[in-house]
Amino acid sequence: MSDVTRETMEYDVVIVGAGPAGLSAAIRLKQLDADLQVVVLEKGSEVGAHILSGAVLDPVGLNELIPDWKAKGAPLNVPVTEDNFYALGEAGAMRIPNFPMPPLMNNHGNYIVSMGNVCRWMAEQAEELGVEIFPGMACSELVYGDKGEVKGVVAGVFGLEADGSLGPNSEPGMELHGKYVFLSEGVRGSLAKEVIAKYDLSKGKEPQKFGLGMKEIWEIDPEKHNEGSVTHTMGWPLGSNAGGGSFIYHLENNQVYVGFVVHLNYKNPHLFPYMEFQRFKHHPMIADLLKGGKRISYGARAISEGGYQSMPKMVAPGVAMLGCSVGMVNVPRIKGNHNAMLSGIAAAEAAHDAIKLDRSGDELSAYEADVREGAIGKDLKKVRNVKPLWSKYGLVASLAVGGFDMWTNTLGFSLFGTLKHGKNDADATEEASKHEPIEYPKPDGTLSFDRLTNVAFSFTNHEESQPAHLHLKDPSVPISVNLPKYAEPAQRYCPAGVYEVVDDKFVINFQNCVHCKTCDIKDPSQNINWVTPQGGDGPNYPNM
Ligand SMILES: Cc1cc2nc3c(=O)[nH]c(=O)nc-3n(C[C@H](O)[C@H](O)[C@H](O)COP(=O)(O)OP(=O)(O)OC[C@H]3O[C@@H](n4cnc5c(N)ncnc54)[C@H](O)[C@@H]3O)c2cc1C
Repeated sequence: MSDVTRETMEYDVVIVGAGPAGLSAAIRLKQLDADLQVVVLEKGSEVGAHILSGAVLDPVGLNELIPDWKAKGAPLNVPVTEDNFYALGEAGAMRIPNFPMPPLMNNHGNYIVSMGNVCRWMAEQAEELGVEIFPGMACSELVYGDKGEVKGVVAGVFGLEADGSLGPNSEPGMELHGKYVFLSEGVRGSLAKEVIAKYDLSKGKEPQKFGLGMKEIWEIDPEKHNEGSVTHTMGWPLGSNAGGGSFIYHLENNQVYVGFVVHLNYKNPHLFPYMEFQRFKHHPMIADLLKGGKRISYGARAISEGGYQSMPKMVAPGVAMLGCSVGMVNVPRIKGNHNAMLSGIAAAEAAHDAIKLDRSGDELSAYEADVREGAIGKDLKKVRNVKPLWSKYGLVASLAVGGFDMWTNTLGFSLFGTLKHGKNDADATEEASKHEPIEYPKPDGTLSFDRLTNVAFSFTNHEESQPAHLHLKDPSVPISVNLPKYAEPAQRYCPAGVYEVVDDKFVINFQNCVHCKTCDIKDPSQNINWVTPQGGDGPNYPNM
């Protein structure tokens, strides 16, 4: 579609994605120079519509960006009051005392927030400074300049024909050009993926690793609600089948975020992450909390887990990748929002300095140096061995060894150096014949729900006449390779029921897609390419 003539708009900085990274960059750019022309493009129907993270926010990034955020009414209303860690067995739970935990695991001073609402508030702050924000505008293509630099994006393509071409009723979108383009698409960004491949930015780095995070919001019995309480669990039901665990955060209004993360390096293709989550809620400790309550929202999103050693080079001519586009999650803390914000600030400062010197379209190497050597690098370096240790030794042994390593890193050294992750998550999948199928109990409709019922609670919507945005590189692979070899795991790893095998045909129900990107990551044949559907489509996570 690149030979289509489109209207062009010129900016100083074009920002793709209105998450914490992109919005922080936009705000900092305008704080530094009110005359800079800055635009933010967001594929969700509104800012926050695609932000899943019901989060414990470390305010370190926000403090730096908007120090008077309290006075400005930022929705950080629930300070964390208590931290609980449990190892679960099928029927019991063992509390892990807080004192052996390294200090970085302490949530004192953090807030339980709806990141969707934090982003909505940040967008207001950005607009007050003069940033242009266009929600409902998916960026579907990169635009390259004569020297091979990224000089812009194509956004706002609507109404494609079924074969993906522009038809008489299509809107071809427009080109937005910038002196610099920031990709802040979050984990496994579709444009970031293209940039990383084109400029070979992962060379010499460890593969990126991921988890699949699923989350429900529950309204529970006020008697059981404990505002400010944060609980993490490990162990049952995943056991030795996969790494992962749960989070339970009590926010305002008798609401609780109940989330479950499954590390995507699991080997057994029969594993069904969504059903593990549903089963988890039947543990007596969780069932007791949720009994009498109701689930009011559901969603899913991949989470980056590779950390320090997996971050690719994050700049190329004309473009910088921010936040989880390169994977900035501190894995044992399950926190990435603070680093996303700090990366936005760092990228903005580098771009501002460059533009002041009349530069454009080159590499913002000052940004890369700031991330690796500044607060973000320090935060991630301390915990760089936790994920490889989990993968190598399993839960129990790695709790002790990983905890020890975090302690020594807090003191400034590690006995392990920097451990490698080895395989990517797709390659970690083993053949189905090597593993037993796993029986999952049927959802009871009260505590646990079937996938499609839950997807309805993500308020997902896709214009059905457009072509599927889940592209198969080779359409024959699901049935000819994945089905016999891996029992076609797409049927199970997708938390939204997008993929089915019906009468030996591979069916893609793209309308259900919640944009989590798990298929792009976990397909063992690496045959699925997630590209953005038209703007405004996808989940509509509620404003709560
Ligand atoms: C289940 C789960 C729980 C988590 N819990 C926590 C927590 O408690 N605390 C914490 O700090 N972190 C947590 N995280 C991590 C945190 O969510 C990420 O680190 C953070 O969202 C990264 O911010 P970002 O701005 O880089 O990307 P995102 O927040 O993902 O924002 C990216 C935005 O870009 C938009 N976008 C993407 N592609 C395009 C495109 N091509 N065109 C236009 N728009 C596009 C998306 O719609 C989205 O709005 C959690 C993550 C998950 C999945």
